[in-house]
Amino acid sequence: MKSIVTGGAGFIGSHLVDLLIKHNHHVVVLDDFSTGRPENLKHMDGDVELCECNLAEQGNWVNLFHGVDWVFHLAALADIVPSIQQPQAYFQSNVDGTFNVIQASVGAGIKRFVYAASSSCYGIPAVYPTPETADIRPQYPYALTKRLGEELVLHWANVYQLPALSLRFFNVYGPRSRTSGTYGAVFGVFLAQKLNNQPYTIVGDGTQTRDFTYVTDIASALFTAASSDRTGEIYNVGSGQTVSVNRLVELLGGESVHIPKRPGEPDCTFADISKIKADLGWHPQVPIEKGVAEVIQNIDYWRHAPVWTPDTIAGATKDWFKYLSNSPS
Ligand code: NAD
Repeated sequence: MKSIVTGGAGFIGSHLVDLLIKHNHHVVVLDDFSTGRPENLKHMDGDVELCECNLAEQGNWVNLFHGVDWVFHLAALADIVPSIQQPQAYFQSNVDGTFNVIQASVGAGIKRFVYAASSSCYGIPAVYPTPETADIRPQYPYALTKRLGEELVLHWANVYQLPALSLRFFNVYGPRSRTSGTYGAVFGVFLAQKLNNQPYTIVGDGTQTRDFTYVTDIASALFTAASSDRTGEIYNVGSGQTVSVNRLVELLGGESVHIPKRPGEPDCTFADISKIKADLGWHPQVPIEKGVAEVIQNIDYWRHAPVWTPDTIAGATKDWFKYLSNSPS
C-alpha cells in the first residue's frame, strides 16, 4: 500500500505517518514546513519519502499521486489569531490547497481520501454532545476555511466520485503539538509554562470544558476511515468526554492565574461520536489521565516553545478581541 499524507511533518500528520509505517505502507509526505518540522519525522529515518512543496500552488508534486492508494489531507494553517490577521494566507493554504489536492487525487484515481476537518465549524453549538447535523457557525477565518475545504471534498465525492470521508477533530493534544511562535492551543501554552515554573494562564474561570482527544486516537480514526468503504460522510472524532480547564490544571499540577475570556469561544466542546462508533466501529482508547501522563513524559519537546504570560497573551490576542467582539454567540 502507498499513502500520501499532506501536512505529514506536522503534529497529527507525523503520528499518522507512524501508524501507516507500522502497517507497512510506503508513505509520501507533502509539506511546506510552514508550521511542521522535519524533526517530527526524523525517528522514521528512510521509511518516508518527503516532498517539500506548497500545496496552494500547482507544481510537480501532483505527479506523486500516481499509483497512490490512500490520501490523507491534513496540510493546513491551523491557528486562530493568525487566521484573523492573515486571512488570505489561510484561504490559500486551506481552500486553494484543498482544491489542488482533490484535483490531483481525482486525476490519479486514488482509492481513498480522508480530510482533516475541524469541530470549529460548529462555533458555539446549541446542542451537547454536538452531532454532525448541528448548525455550521464558523466564528473566525480558520474555522471558515476548514469548512470550505470540507465542502469541496464532499462536493468532489458527489460529482467526481472521489471516495472521500471528512473527519471533524475535537481539541487534539499529545506529543509534537505545534510550538510555533503564535499563541495557540491550551496544552502547548500550559506545558511551556510548567517547564518554566510559570503559572498556567487560565482563560475565564476555568470551568469551560473541552473534548481533549489524544493524538493516537485521531491517527487511528484516520486509518479506520481510509479502511472503510463509505464515502461522502462526515464523522466527529472526539474522546467521548469533556474535561474542564481547571481539571487539566489539576492533572498537570502547579499554580495558575486567570486571564479574560475571549469572544467566539464556546464554554464547552463535546463531540457526539455515536455515528463513527456505529458506522466505522472506531472508539477512543486514551482517557485524559493517561494522555496527560504521556504528554508530561514527553515534556522536553516544549523546551523551546514560547512561555506566555498574561501581558504577552493580551498583546497577542488584541486582534481577537478587536474583530470578534461583535460575533454572535
Ligand atoms: P500542524 O500545524 O502541526 O500541521 C499542519 C501541517 O501542514 C504542517 O506540517 C504545515 O507545515 C503543513 N502545511 C500548512 N500549509 C501548507 C501548504 N500550503 N502546503 C503544504 N503544507 C502545508 O497542525 P495539526 O494540529 O497537526 O493539524 C493537522 C490538521 O488537522 C489540520 O488540517 C487542522 O486544521 C486539523 N485539525 C487540527 C486540530 C487540532 O486540535 N490540532 C483540530 C481540528 C482539526
